[in-house]
Amino acid sequence: MDWGFDNTYVRDLPGFYRPWRPGGSPAPELVVVNDELALELGLDPAWLRSPDGVAVLSGNSVPDGAEPIAQAYAGHQFGQLSPMLGDGRAVLLGEVVDKHGDRRDVSLKGSGRTPFSRGGDGKAVIGPVLREYLMGEAMRGLGIPTTRALAAVTTGETVMRRGREPGAILTRVASSHLRVGTFEMVRLHGNEEQLRQLADYAMARHYPGLDAGDYAGFLSAVVSRQAQLIAAWMSVGFIHGVMNTDNMAISGETIDYGPCAFLDVYEPEQVFSSIDAQGRYRYSQQPAIAAWNLARLAETLLPLMGGDAAVDDATGRVEAFFDEYGAALAERFKAKTDSPADSLLSRMHADGLDFTNTFRELQPEGNPIYIPRNHLVEEALAAAARGDYAPFQQLLELVRDPFSERPGMERYAEPAPAGFTEGYLTFCGT
Ligand code: AMP
Ligand code: MG
Repeated sequence: MDWGFDNTYVRDLPGFYRPWRPGGSPAPELVVVNDELALELGLDPAWLRSPDGVAVLSGNSVPDGAEPIAQAYAGHQFGQLSPMLGDGRAVLLGEVVDKHGDRRDVSLKGSGRTPFSRGGDGKAVIGPVLREYLMGEAMRGLGIPTTRALAAVTTGETVMRRGREPGAILTRVASSHLRVGTFEMVRLHGNEEQLRQLADYAMARHYPGLDAGDYAGFLSAVVSRQAQLIAAWMSVGFIHGVMNTDNMAISGETIDYGPCAFLDVYEPEQVFSSIDAQGRYRYSQQPAIAAWNLARLAETLLPLMGGDAAVDDATGRVEAFFDEYGAALAERFKAKTDSPADSLLSRMHADGLDFTNTFRELQPEGNPIYIPRNHLVEEALAAAARGDYAPFQQLLELVRDPFSERPGMERYAEPAPAGFTEGYLTFCGT
């Protein structure tokens, strides 16, 4: 099959990646294909399910026109700079222009070690792979910008994580994999010309309305998309869980679903991630962290914006995040409820009410009924680990269309069982 690859990143940004082939899978088995997304990309879902298709999805063959690479990036993880991260377990196959004319990256996540794997095994396991699949489709259903999964396969390997778990590969589709951490990498290890190359590339790909060379405008445009994105997350009770700068996409899509989760009861200080002991990435903190990440982006752009003389301008552009976020959030809550949001939220907090269901009960038009609730996600992933994908498929179907109530599906709209949320922890699965 002709994928129609057209690989601008490889062509335009030499030195920002390493050519690398996926490691391959000993006994791949298809778990799920995203028909709708395949068609959007101009791919034949039936071919993706065929042995030739599964060979690509499992890293056993590289399609014509693909130029597989591991991308380099740096990042601040939990506030600490990691000067070189990069794709440690992902390979970008290439870029496809979809039916709407939008350029999309197609990458394999969990396809084995790369030059950036550091101590890791380069693999992924079925639970986190299907969690990412579900979460991306749920976000998409909610109308929130996100990377999406094209497919998931098991590899036939057993991988050690919290126990022995089935190895798996997610095929991820993203507007791009440019991250704040990509800019940090070039600022740290590259020269000004390379920084300009990267910024020009990102502007042309994601902000084509900007004038060439308007790097200040670029910063503001990224700030603006993030303000909209975080407001959207907050309005549905989504906690990303690991908002490191390498997990913030320049495109404004939600990316890198790891220990993410949706709120059950409304608890603004909620932390689910097992690795977030300080609560740095708790629900209430997400806007402040986004602005902090954007300040790291601004620092990288300073040489292009006029150096030290541009510090005040750049600072102002980052601080504009809060006004724009505030306005976007107010807009979101106005659409969710006629009640004043602040007093409603404090009552919900005081009474320990379920976030999603409270809004749905107050206003069924517009508020979602089906979200990937933690207990349902865990139930689906546990079944999948035993080879039973039916609960995953059922939950997937509901969260892809979260506003339409389906008869007989009442249990999917119920809050978490008593006591579930208190002890609930999410894991990166890396
Ligand atoms: P993440 O937490 O998925 O955003 O990953 C942070 C960094 O660790 C990225 O550079 C990943 O590519 C890398 N990484 C995560 N898991 C693995 C793994 N199993 N093997 C190698 N690298 C990994
Ligand atoms: Mg990441």
